[in-house]
Amino acid sequence: MKTKKALITGASRGIGEAIALKLAETGYNVVLTGRNLPMLGSVGDACRKRGAEAEVFAADLSDESEIIDLFRKAGPIDLLINNAGFGIFDAIEDIKLADWQAIHKVNVEGAFLCLREALKSMKTSGGGRIINISSVVGVKGYPNQAAYGASKHALLGLTKTAIEEGREHGICVHAICPGGVATEMVKQSRPDLTDFSAMIQPKDVADAVAYLCSLPNNITVDCIHLRRAASPQTW
Ligand code: NAP
Repeated sequence: MKTKKALITGASRGIGEAIALKLAETGYNVVLTGRNLPMLGSVGDACRKRGAEAEVFAADLSDESEIIDLFRKAGPIDLLINNAGFGIFDAIEDIKLADWQAIHKVNVEGAFLCLREALKSMKTSGGGRIINISSVVGVKGYPNQAAYGASKHALLGLTKTAIEEGREHGICVHAICPGGVATEMVKQSRPDLTDFSAMIQPKDVADAVAYLCSLPNNITVDCIHLRRAASPQTW
């Protein structure tokens, strides 16, 4: 049986790194991308130790030409994990337009361009799967997270249309909306927190990805809302 190939954005650390390792363990070959080549290289080595072939390509997802080049170099893929993203956290009256635009450039436009390139490739190759990493802030409002939250709401809107456009081509599209995950990002967005041990861990998101990838062709799950059991429901 042909080994499937997964492209993971934001694979240099955090959630993307955990997803890359999980996919490598579950039989995928991986294409890893981000801007930090040394960190991507380390993740690539860890994937190879788990038996996967790993290719590493640096790309800035705020640049359309770099995204097109990335997908050209990656070739046909079976799975896209649209994970790269970042936030700048301010009250609405303090948000600079440049910060708003920078966030949307990567979290929405970059994700859209990756999705567009993956759909083109998967329609030609006969199907595939795309998983967009949104957030609890994609469904719920939090103070100081307007720019980031709006970008994650937009990613869910994009997901809903992609689900419909992919359906007749054998392309399953899903979103995962995690609550706070213990990574660099949460340390920036929640400077009040010091103990991250009770939070969702990157591996928990990776396990949700593996679950979606294990679904049979006739069944799908549109969105996984992943929260700490101690937190209130979000949908
Ligand atoms: P992280 O540790 O800060 O990792 C972010 C990743 O995105 C890095 O690999 C980074 O790679 C990549 N990235 C950022 N800007 C990029 C750009 N312009 N071009 C290419 N790659 C870029 O954050 P994380 O927590 O793992 O977040 C991963 C995803 O999960 C994000 O979409 C985030 O919104 C989402 N999420 C996070 C949480 C949370 O609480 N942590 C909760 C829900 C959803 P380079 O630095 O190498 O470019």
